[in-house]
This record gives sequence, structure tokens and C-alpha cells, in this order.
Amino acid sequence: MKKFVTVVFLLSLLISMFPGIAGAAEAPKLYLNGKQLASNAEPKIVGASTLVPIRTITEGLGYDVNWTSPNVTISNGDTNVILTIGGKTAVVNDHEVKLEAPALNNDGATLVPLRFVGEQFGLDVYWDADTRTVHMYQQNVSNPPVTEPGDGGNPAPPVDGGTDPGTGTPGNGDGGTTTPAGDETAFLKSIVFDGLGSIYLPYTGEIGDVKQQVLHSPERVVVDLPYMNFAADFSTGFTETSNGGKLGEVVVDSHPTLKKIRYSYFSDKPSTVRVVLDLNAPTNYQVSKEDHVIRIDVLEQTGPVTTDPGTPVDPPTGKDVFNVVLDAGHGAKDPGALSINGHQEKEYNLAITLKVKALLDKESRIKPYLTRSNDTFVELDDRAKFANDLHANLFVSFHANKTENATVSGSETYYYRSDSIPFAKVMHKHLVAGTGFRDRGVRQAAYVVVKKTTMPAVLLEAGYLSNASDSSVLFSDVKQNKIAAEIVAGIKEYLKLS
Ligand SMILES: [Zn+2]
Repeated sequence: MKKFVTVVFLLSLLISMFPGIAGAAEAPKLYLNGKQLASNAEPKIVGASTLVPIRTITEGLGYDVNWTSPNVTISNGDTNVILTIGGKTAVVNDHEVKLEAPALNNDGATLVPLRFVGEQFGLDVYWDADTRTVHMYQQNVSNPPVTEPGDGGNPAPPVDGGTDPGTGTPGNGDGGTTTPAGDETAFLKSIVFDGLGSIYLPYTGEIGDVKQQVLHSPERVVVDLPYMNFAADFSTGFTETSNGGKLGEVVVDSHPTLKKIRYSYFSDKPSTVRVVLDLNAPTNYQVSKEDHVIRIDVLEQTGPVTTDPGTPVDPPTGKDVFNVVLDAGHGAKDPGALSINGHQEKEYNLAITLKVKALLDKESRIKPYLTRSNDTFVELDDRAKFANDLHANLFVSFHANKTENATVSGSETYYYRSDSIPFAKVMHKHLVAGTGFRDRGVRQAAYVVVKKTTMPAVLLEAGYLSNASDSSVLFSDVKQNKIAAEIVAGIKEYLKLS
């Protein structure tokens, strides 16, 4: 029995594993949702970073791209990203986001680091070294467990800001329904789960190297079988998708961490069958190839269970007092968003923070800590470090948003790590109750303060300062009191103190 274990490629490793070859190798190819992107501009490797043509990708996602030297503005009427050629930061809505390498102009095309593109536009990104190909798949951030990149049913990220850039997006939702390319050399006969922890994939013919990756939020293992298609008599049932693709799944209820096995015809370059293991916790696994059988063994759990979003996890227990960090966004030289009625975002952020603090000071089992308590400037990294050093139980960052479209209104709650989702859901419910604004949903974004903190962390975008109505509410003392009371109610509900 010949066994092999291949390396699991994580995005962070991947990017650093790109060789720093300039010009020598052929430029990487770009795929979005399983389709190759046609572009006049080629991706470029600079040092340890892969830079990709932003226009090609964001237009593929349905964004408008506008160029006013030296800035590039990318917008879908909802999310607004401003990049500056040569700049090491970008502005996403009103937030500054660091780039690992500066955006550059190459023959008229703006190239930006792939990692930034993935994080800001909600794409799962991975690198296939053999074919020098970058694969990008749209995530469904509002409902992570339901879809998988390439499963044929992957909708555009939820956008409800009065525009609907999701419709008609080229390449969207078809990743699993590609027409077979006819280059397969192997056929999968069935997918068999033994009820314990092993999955057997018997096949005929010869396959290429099995590709594996571990993805998070939600936790899953993705195994791609190149040069393979389903056999005509494949034994397990499929669901036909609306455009003729094939999807199937096996629901598992007998395993501590493996919850579902999904499979689809995933890509036609080359023909690839994708098998996804949906897990409820990080779990070791091993892929081995025996005589015309690929075997996937699901091994021991290596991290805490991340329950389904929406099912609040048990709050921290065994402590008498919970430390909660309140983070008033921006400050001093950094005003944040400018409101349509002449205020600055930093004023709202501090006002609401101080009101929440005053209420929490009355709570015997909660101790609030502030990253700033007056109009001072604190670096984003220092805000996260403050909470981490404190071993805080919860982190809440206060912000207000803006966009170029003055009609956009509503409250959003952001998280980054999946273990923050239950907290985000509770806080969002109370944020919307406090503002009374339109519910624009719980969303994932790689904001520094929710990414680098190590406890459940949320960033509350209470409303849009570019909207006259939202803005007047957010700067009203009476309304701020109501919002603050709801924030406190959310914290207490999550901590099961109410
Ligand atoms: Zn802000």
C-alpha cells in the first residue's frame, strides 16, 4: 500500500512561498469562480507579494472602477475602496487598511496585493503552484456554512444598499457547473463514508496529484481531484443545479467534527472533481492513494468547536468580572468619516463609547476599558494589543460609515474570526434596535481591530454619516443614550448577565 501525505497550503504560507522571480517565469493565471479572467494586464510577483490587476477582478465582481490620478476608486454603491498608486494603505469606506506592498501602476493597469483583494472583496484565494494559477472564489459572508466556492449555488455577497450589483455579475455562481472539458483521465465511481472517519473515493483511470487546502470560517477541508470527472454510473445521487451542474452531499451525524461531505464537478481547467469536508472544528486529516481508491481519513480535533453561526456559544465562565474593551474609532488627526451635517465620525465614536462606559460602570460583573477616552490618536495595532494584553473577554469598536451614495442608510456589524460570529449576531440585533436604522447585516471584514484581537470582537458601523437622516440620529444625545443602552444590553445578553 503506497501512501502519501501532501502539504496543506495555507494562504499566508502560499503567498510567502511565491518565488521572487521577476520576469523569468510566466505570469500567473487568474481564475474567478472557476473561470479564467481575460486581462490585458498580467499579475506580477514583487518580493514576497503577488500583485494582481484590480480592475480585472473587481469588474468581474460587478464593481465600478474609476481612475483619478493617483487614486483608483472601486465601488459598488455600498463598499467604496480608494487605492493610491505607491501608497501602502487603502481606504475602505472610511477605514484605513494596510497593504503588504504598495499598489503600483504597470502599463496603465493598477496592481495590488492579492491578499488585500481577497480580504476586502470577500474572496477565498489559493495558489496552484503546478499550473501557476491563482484561484479566487466569492464567499457568502452572511451565511458561511451553506455554500462553497464552486458549488454552483454561491450567491453574491449580500448587498442591499439600494443598488444590486450582485445581479448579472459575470462568472458568479457557476463555479461548479462548468461544461466538462473532455480532458479527464479518471472517473470517480462513488463516494463512500464508512460511518467512522474514513471516506473512500474509488475511481478508474489515472488522476493527477490530489490538491488539498484547509479553509476557515467555516472550517472545511477541500480536496481537488484533477483530470477527473464523475463516472456515468456514479453511485451517489446528485442535485441538478439550475444551469445543469451537478452537486451532491452526504450528511454525517456520526462523527464528532465531520458534519457533511459535499462534491461537485468543479473546474474544467483541468477537469476537476471537488470534495469538501464540512467540519465544526479544526481537525487533522490525511489523504492517501491506494490502488484506484483515494482515501481521506478524518483524524483528531485540533481546535475548539466553532458552532454554527447564529447558535450562541457558551459565554466565558468561571470569572466574576468580565473585561470589556470599548474602542472609540479614529481620533485626533484621524477624524474618520465626515458627516453630511458637519460633524466628524470620531466625535460620535467617542460620545457613544463614553456613554456605554458610564452604563457599564454600574454593572458589578463588567469592567470596561477604553482604548481612548478623549480626542487622541491611537494606532490600530495598539488598540488590538491593548485588548490582548489585558486578556479582555470582549472587544467592541465603535464607528459610523459613509459612502458616496447619500441614500445608503443602515447599521452593520463586522467581525473577522468565526469565533466572533455569535457575539456579532447578538450585538447586531441590539445595534439595530438602538439606531432604528435599516438592518444591513452582520458582515465579515479584515479590519485590524477585529482581526488582530484574540477575543470575540466586533466593529459596529452604527449608520451612514453620508445620509442626512442617519447622521442626525447618530449626533442626537437622546438617540445616543438609546444606542448605548442597547449596546450594554447586547454585552449582557452575550455574557448571560441579563
Ligand atoms: Zn470609522
